[in-house]
This record gives sequence, C-alpha cells and structure tokens, in this order.
Amino acid sequence: MNSAAHEQRLLESVPTGLLIDGKWQESITGGRFSVNDPATGTTLATVADASAADAAAALDAAAAVQQEWAATSPRLRGDILRRGFEAVHARADDFALLMTLEMGKALAESHAEVNYGAEFLRWFSEEAVRVGGRYTTSPDGGSRLLVTKRPVGPALLITPWNFPLAMATRKVGPAIAAGCTMILKPADLTPLTSLLLAQVLLDSGLPPGVLNVIPTTSAAQTTEGLFRDPRLRKLSFTGSTGVGQKLLQQASTTVLRTSMELGGNAPFLVFADADIEAAVEGAVAAKLRNIGQACTAANRFLVHEDVADGFATKLADRFAAKMLGRGTDDGVEIGPLIDERSREKVRSLVDDALGRGATALAGGAVVPGAGYFYQPTVLTGVPADARVLTEEIFGPVAPIVTFRTTEEAIKEANRTPFGLAAYAYTRDLDRVIRLSERLETGMLGINTGIISNPAAPFGGVKQSGLGREGGFEGIDEYLETVYVGIAQPAS
Ligand code: NAP
Repeated sequence: MNSAAHEQRLLESVPTGLLIDGKWQESITGGRFSVNDPATGTTLATVADASAADAAAALDAAAAVQQEWAATSPRLRGDILRRGFEAVHARADDFALLMTLEMGKALAESHAEVNYGAEFLRWFSEEAVRVGGRYTTSPDGGSRLLVTKRPVGPALLITPWNFPLAMATRKVGPAIAAGCTMILKPADLTPLTSLLLAQVLLDSGLPPGVLNVIPTTSAAQTTEGLFRDPRLRKLSFTGSTGVGQKLLQQASTTVLRTSMELGGNAPFLVFADADIEAAVEGAVAAKLRNIGQACTAANRFLVHEDVADGFATKLADRFAAKMLGRGTDDGVEIGPLIDERSREKVRSLVDDALGRGATALAGGAVVPGAGYFYQPTVLTGVPADARVLTEEIFGPVAPIVTFRTTEEAIKEANRTPFGLAAYAYTRDLDRVIRLSERLETGMLGINTGIISNPAAPFGGVKQSGLGREGGFEGIDEYLETVYVGIAQPAS
C-alpha cells in the first residue's frame, strides 16, 4: 500500500468518539473538533468534543466498575496488558504513522516511541503480579502488623501532546496493573493515538468502564467538576508546571493522590575530559529528539571552556545537516513544531538571546512556508540573563555557555526552579559521584543523551513534579497502603 493510501485507511479506522463505559459515543453536546497535521495545517480527522456532562458520565462508568475491577486477579490484569503490548506491536506501522501525522515527528522517531510506549504495557503486565506487602510482629510482641496494598480507585489521567502513545501507556499501564479504573484526557492536539490505544486495549479484553477516554477542547471546564466529586481518588498529570500548579490546587478539594510530571530545564554538562565526539552525538539526541519538544530535552549546554569551541562547531555542523520536512517523507529527520504558538515562543527566545549579544552558529530563524518549522539552532555567547537559559525552550535550539570549574558548573546547572533531567559527559568517576549527589535533578544521564527507560523511575524534583512513573515505583502511584493491626496476646 502506498503511503497516501495507508494514511487514508488508517485515519478511517481510528475511532473518533468518546469512549465511555466501553461504548464509542458522541459528546452530549454533539460537538466535534478538528485534529490537524502540523506539517501542513490540513485537517486529519474530527473528534467528539467532551463536555463536563460527558466527563461526569465517564466518572459514573469508572466508579461503577471500580470494585469489580479491583477484585480481578493480578494475573488477569497482567494478561490484558501483555495482549495490549503485543497488539500495539502488531499495529506498529499504524501507531507510528498516526503519531507522525498528528504530532509531526519523523517516522523513525515515531517507531521508536511505539517501542518505548508499548514497553510500559509489558513492564506493568509483569509488575501486576509483584505487588507485595508485609507481616511482622510489633516490637512489644503484643500484635501482628499486616501491611497490604490496594488500588487507590478511579483515576483521572491527563496527558500532553508531545509523546502521544508513551505518555498514555505510562499511566494507563500501571493503573490497569494496580486495579484502578480511569478516565484518560489526552491533549486536544493529539487525541487520535489515545483513541486507537483504547480500541486496542478493549480488543485485548479490557472490560467496559475500566478505561474511559474524553478528548476535549475545553480541558478546564470539562474536568473541573471531577475534582469536586469524592468518587475520583487520583490525578496523574503530565504537562506544564503552570497547569500542574492549578491542578494541584483543585486536587486539594478532595485531597486527591497526585502524580505530577511537569516541565524541565535540563542542563547538559560537557567536561574537559569528555569524549567530545560522543558528547556531540549525545547532544544531538538530547536536543533534537522529538524536535526538542521533550520535558527531558537538554535546555542548556554547559561546556568546559577548553573544549567549548570544538564542541560548538561540531554540534552546529550536525544541526545544519538535518533534513526538515513532513515526518512521513523519506530522509526527513526533523518535523515541524506542534503549532504556531510553540514556534512563536521558540522564535522569541532565540531573538531575545541574539538581541543580548548571542551568536547563531547554526539556524536562528523560522522556516517560511506551510507548517510550523524552525531551523535547528546552536547559540554561543549566550549571556546568563537570556530567557533561553531560564525558560523551557521546547524546540530545536541549543544555547551553549562555558564554565571553568566543576563547582561553577554545578551551581549553574542548579540555577533553575526545575529539576527533571540532567546530562553529563565525563570519564572521571569521582566527578560522576559528586554530580549524582549535588545536581538537583530527578534523573541524571552519564555519557548518554537519552535517559527514559520503562524499567527506571521517571520523574523530577523541585517544580518538575511529584511522584515517579515507570520502574518499580510506577505502580505504587496507583496503590494505597493499608495497615491492619491484629491483637495477639502472648500464649
Ligand atoms: P499543558 O498545556 O500543561 O497541557 C497538558 C495537558 O493538560 C493537556 O492534556 C491539556 O489539555 C491539559 N490541560 C491544560 N489545562 C488544563 C486545565 N486547566 N485542567 C485540566 N487539564 C488541562 O502542557 P503541553 O503543552 O501539552 O505539554 C508540554 C509540557 O509538558 C512541557 O512543559 C513539558 O515539559 C511537559 N511534559 C512533562 C513530562 C514529564 O514527564 N515531566 C513529559 C512530557 C511533557 P489540552 O492540550 O487539550 O488543552
């Protein structure tokens, strides 16, 4: 099948309704909204636009089956996830194409996300049967202490547009494994992947009501009422820190359990003893993966002054050689930014830095024509007060600043309210240990530009969030700890 025919057939096969209680349905208001291709601006599909009443119906459905779902065996839940993992792989070409169409990244990157995203289903299919507890004798010997875990209850899962599959599976996987029912609210820019995932999970045996999906163009109004409803017991949010802060306030109404995966401002440190070729390779990955639109994207390149010129020149050469275009086209490595608002932010950050005396060694401008393209950009001589160093760029821009001592590098790396990811290139073990103890970050990549791994705890410190996703920690976010004290007088 040629690619245009594949696109057509795929778009016709993706469900575009709301999923409530196992049934695909229109919004109560009858409203629908368009999902657009960021490379061309053309409409790919229209999707039912959920209202507050639809969200209430989704919570009704989730709450109605919570008890029954919690009582299913861990093995049954694990088997559903395992079948889901296999089904996503069986439709890898469809998932990859769909993500490229609605989000813009190059097809090879979408395939990488299929592998990464599906892995959360496999990982949590394995974790479902490993939830433990403990049984101990109290210190005075007079009672037995039984500690067990149970699902926290219906969960609201809110995801961003940048990794349409992985951000959903990273929440849906552990929620299913733990025995929680859920309402998934994908970003309105990229709802199609979540809708296809939901269909795949239904086909894999997920019972009606366990997963409900409510795309909407009015996120705040649609979800607001859920935060006042005591049946909702959990919020897992991935998105910007600003929205996360608002949701934390709303979550305080009923004291919801919260997991917050928020924004980042990752430093990428290159020390004088680093393998510079490897550091450049890692920098390209840490910066240009997802067109720079990753919460873990390197935001600031802090490079030792002795190696800074060589590093900057090599990085600029690599950036300048990248082929931009629609992610479906052969040879394309860099797609468009998600929308005009995002591109405008990137443009203003670069212009601000240039206005303060920075130099563009590569790029530095928007790409005229259709789509929201921005040139991969390397900036040197960036002053400390440039916004590009303090704000999350979310685009293909690498500002480079230099440092002289390790202490100076650590201080500069920590000069941010965020603390999600950090990267360092060095061959000095003492320095690695020092960095791991002093950098204010939830995750640290040593001699690697890619850190995400479903088997590792993903999450941040400071204003980058609360809680962890993936790893052994990921399922705990969906479990309550219950302690039972049993009197046992001495016999
Ligand atoms: P965003 O604007 O905060 O939106 C995230 C999600 O929240 C979307 O589904 C959005 O819906 C929804 N939302 C927005 N306002 C809401 C409200 N008042 N009530 C309920 N839901 C609301 O973030 P984004 O632009 O999609 O994503 C980029 C941000 O996410 C970046 O800051 C990035 O660092 C962060 N991120 C963090 C991680 C992590 O793991 N730490 C991973 C990926 C991304 P609509 O889009 O439909 O409006």
